[in-house]
Amino acid sequence: MKSSFNVFCLLLLVYGCELFASTPAQDKQQLERYYDKFKADIDADNMLHAMSYINELRQLAVSQQALEIEVESYLFEAMVKRRYGAFEEGVKLNYYALELAQSAGNKTYTAWAYLHLAHLEMELERFRLAQEYIQHAVDFYKNENSEYTALMYLWQSKTYLAMGSYHQALQASNNAQNVTANTGDTMYEIAVNQAQILLKLGDYQAAQLMLANVDPAQIRKSQERVRLHYYLALANCYLQAGKFKLAINTALSQLENSYNTRFLDEQAQLQFLVANAYRQQKEYKLAYRYLNRYGLTKDALSLQRRNNKVLQLEAHFKFNSQNQQLLLLGKDNSLKEQRLLQQQQTIENQQLQQQRWLLAGILIMCGLAFIYWRWQNQRYLVTLKQQVAERTHALAKSNELLKTMSYSDSLTGLHNRHYFFSVINQQLAKLARTNHLLPPAQLQNLVFALVDIDHFKNINDSHGHAVGDQVLEQFSKILQQHSRDSDLLIRWGGEEFLLVMDNLTLDEAAYTLNRMVNVIENHQFTLNNNEFLHCTCSVGFACYPFIAAMPELFNWEQVIELADGALYLAKENQRNAWVAIAPGTEKLHWQSDDVVKHYRKYLLSGELQSYSNITAKLKF
Ligand code: GH3
Ligand code: MG
Ligand code: MG
Repeated sequence: MKSSFNVFCLLLLVYGCELFASTPAQDKQQLERYYDKFKADIDADNMLHAMSYINELRQLAVSQQALEIEVESYLFEAMVKRRYGAFEEGVKLNYYALELAQSAGNKTYTAWAYLHLAHLEMELERFRLAQEYIQHAVDFYKNENSEYTALMYLWQSKTYLAMGSYHQALQASNNAQNVTANTGDTMYEIAVNQAQILLKLGDYQAAQLMLANVDPAQIRKSQERVRLHYYLALANCYLQAGKFKLAINTALSQLENSYNTRFLDEQAQLQFLVANAYRQQKEYKLAYRYLNRYGLTKDALSLQRRNNKVLQLEAHFKFNSQNQQLLLLGKDNSLKEQRLLQQQQTIENQQLQQQRWLLAGILIMCGLAFIYWRWQNQRYLVTLKQQVAERTHALAKSNELLKTMSYSDSLTGLHNRHYFFSVINQQLAKLARTNHLLPPAQLQNLVFALVDIDHFKNINDSHGHAVGDQVLEQFSKILQQHSRDSDLLIRWGGEEFLLVMDNLTLDEAAYTLNRMVNVIENHQFTLNNNEFLHCTCSVGFACYPFIAAMPELFNWEQVIELADGALYLAKENQRNAWVAIAPGTEKLHWQSDDVVKHYRKYLLSGELQSYSNITAKLKF
């Protein structure tokens, strides 16, 4: 005994080492080895031995993902627990196997798990529940027509039998018989079951015929209960046939075997049968003894069943409450998970919202900055334009002023020589245009007259320069008053003025200028110190074109030189007078330069003609 224990320990050690230091291939081999051993132990009804390594087998099955072996290991363990009254664990393990098979979608093992549950419920006399479980298994195997189908029908039949539905039990049993082979454990079990039903229906002959198909020596050790049922049925047949002695012998031989076994129910049935047979034989003392034993066994059985029921109820209650707790836990977890998810979602949404606001803020800021920049730019542009306009205006004004200043004489306010030079060509072009349209007799001209104050130097000398200026101012005013708007009055230099009059004949000009000389002569110049002064002036003039038929022969500069010559003549001959120079004869070939230069010679020759208010003959 000790040595076998040592060998067992050694084996365990070896298995343990192999478990820890094994390769996948080795694991597979090991699993196969364990599984073979497991099957052999089941066949030999070596349940407790199989229980010693069931955990290792399961671990190997898990590591090798051999789901079927794993489920089988649970079902086996559940069965062992059931047999030894540990119903609570049995229920748990069965449910665990069922869940595992269902979650893996393995229908075969789901059906087997239902069968085991049905078996368990049968033992707890909960036949309707067992019926429901077995129905699942039958439904699954119905179309397969295998040995397993037969087994399922057989178990269905057993539940009907237990419930007292004998005809339905017989039907299910026939179904089982139809699909099984005519040999083997299942066939024996079906035959025994059918005999039991037939006995319940009172047909002991048919039952006996059915039992004749069974060879009790062939029934395996693991099917001990079947063997017991066989003999029980056989003894019952003998009893119903009135073969009491045979019935008693058959039952008693099995009773001896049934002591100290777990088959308490069968034991009670055998005792009851023996008591019944003895009663039939009128051996009341023996009948009473066995009835007494039957009562004791029945008490033990009902005690066991009561305990089983309590345990089963506890098991169910615990299982249900555990499931409830697990369910609650799962719900709680999923609720928490949901809440967490919601919180996360809320945070993400808030972040998203914040980002949106930030973006919108940045965009608005950018927009505002752009608008401000545009506004500033435009404002700057407007200011710039305003400044440019103002400056342009100021420049134009100052230009105008400059122009006026450059064209005006500051003392008298009259136009100066620059102005004259800027407009004279325009004046001459206008005249040319006018004359172009007119007949020769009506041709117009310009009169160039130079007016010079006589002995002005003396005024300066005797009254001072300031008085001279006052005289110049008043003198220019008088000239302005006595000239037309269309006339050009220029301060030609110092106390000399140029008067350009248009559209006047020589006579008309002489008349005008004569009047002007007279006005000056008669004018009383007022000085600052309320003194008065008189002065005179001399005028020399000539017409342009100098020769009407040949307007381009003498240019305006030459005409002014001739007027200057005339002024000299006025000064030389008298002062306070006017002199004009005009062509004296009709001549085709004038030398204008020579004429201008030597005008006196030409006057003497009569080629030039002088006109004057000087009464005496002019000296040239
Ligand atoms: P004549 O009769 O020959 O013209 O003699 P005149 O003294 O008028 O001529 P002259 O050429 O000898 O002298 C002109 C003087 O005029 C000289 C100059 O000082 C003076 N004068 C020229 N411009 C101005 C001026 O703007 N103001 C003042 N007060 N005197 C001026
Ligand atoms: Mg002069
Ligand atoms: Mg003078």
